[in-house]
Formats: sequence, structure tokens, C-alpha cells
Amino acid sequence: MTRDELRSQLLFYRDLGFPELYRQEAAAAPLVPRAARESAAPVAAASLFDDALAEGPPETLQAIRADIGECTRCPLHQRRTNIVFGVGDANAKIVFVGEGPGADEDAQGIPFVGRAGQLLTQMIDNTASREGLALRRADVYICNVVKCRPPENRSPERDEMETCGQFLFRQLEAIRPKAVCALGGVATKALLGTSTGIMQLRGKWQSWRGIPVLPTYHPAFLLRGNNPTYKREAWEDLKKLLHFVYG
Ligand code: URA
Repeated sequence: MTRDELRSQLLFYRDLGFPELYRQEAAAAPLVPRAARESAAPVAAASLFDDALAEGPPETLQAIRADIGECTRCPLHQRRTNIVFGVGDANAKIVFVGEGPGADEDAQGIPFVGRAGQLLTQMIDNTASREGLALRRADVYICNVVKCRPPENRSPERDEMETCGQFLFRQLEAIRPKAVCALGGVATKALLGTSTGIMQLRGKWQSWRGIPVLPTYHPAFLLRGNNPTYKREAWEDLKKLLHFVYG
């Protein structure tokens, strides 16, 4: 990397809100925002279902879906219509992780197709187009922590997340995106094993097994109130994510 390239990369990270960067010893190692690196070790160690990942070559998404089968591993299967595995590009640079399917998703077997999903689609498409990026919802990958709808849209229980979370982790290992966007507190907790709330973590880079994770508000939360501050913050988070991944 030339001095000018290094300078422009440092300015880019400063604009993203990372005034300090650390230097990695390994020559081939990428420049990583300090915040993402600092959180990597404790966060990865504390993840809820870290032991679910066997060592070995990465699996395909099809193999993971086949392993889920007609799952009866947890009580959520009793009232589901469809397993909602995930949708999008298997080579996506960004994976969005939600909490669990709602009624529309359960009916169609596709994540984020209800009202919250429509907002997520608009946020991805509109932010990308405003930032001059040829990126659409179909270019990312979208999935949830649990693959079956919790009754009455309640939050998944810890044991349901532990049972199903292994599949999320395997999906992330199969894709190894450049960044993950955790939508809301449940996805953030599942990925990071943290008890810190989404209000504190949103917009701050974290890490899951070396992959940068950006927590932001869940689109359903944005729909519930009409708080322009939360909406603006969510758009800022999305811009930060897109610039980090696509420059
Ligand atoms: N909310 C989620 O967390 N996931 C979906 O798929 C839909 C709504």
C-alpha cells in the first residue's frame, strides 16, 4: 500500500468514527477498526452457542438447510407453518440477522417479508442508491436467530435460541461475509453473548469470530414509535455498514 493509499484509508476510517487504529503485526493482515478488534476476543468467547461450530471445511447453506430438515428440536416447531431458513446471496458481503419469523414470514417461509421486512428492504435499497451503490436487498443475505415463529411474536426463549442458534452460526461460517448487521437486541445478544442493551451498542462495531458486527435497531422497533432520532440513527448505521463493506 502506498503512503497516499494508507492516508486515504485512515481518513476513511476517521470519517466512519474511528479516530484511532492499531497496527497488526502480520504483514498480510487487513486494517481493522480498533473498536471491532478490541471486542473480538471477549465477545467471541462469550457467544451463546459458540461450541456449536465444529472445526473443518465450511459447509454449504444447502447442507445446513438439509441438516435442519423438518426440525422438531425445540417446541417452536409445534405451531410453525414453514421453517424460515434465510434468503439472499450465498456469497453476500453483508448478512442481516433478525430475531425470528413473524406471521407473514411463517406463512411464506421467507424472512423479513412483513411490514418490518418492507421497511428493511426500503432501508437497504434507498440507502444504497443514495450512496451511489448498485446494491439491492437481493444482494445481501437475510436470516434470523430462530427459524420458527415464536407464538404471538414473543421473543425467543434462551433454550430456543441455543437450540436454533447453531444453525445461524453455521450459516455465518458458510457465508463468511465482510460484515454482519444485527437487527435489534435479540440478534445482538445471540451473536455477542452480551447483556449490554441495543441502545448502548447500536452503531458501534463489535465482532463475531473475526467478522465485524454492527448492531442497529430492529425495523419493527422503528415502526412502533414515531421517533425521528431512532430512524435517523438507523439510517446512519446502515450508511456506516455500507461504506465499511463497499468503500
Ligand atoms: N422480524 C424478525 O426479526 N425477523 C423476520 O423475519 C421478520 C420480522
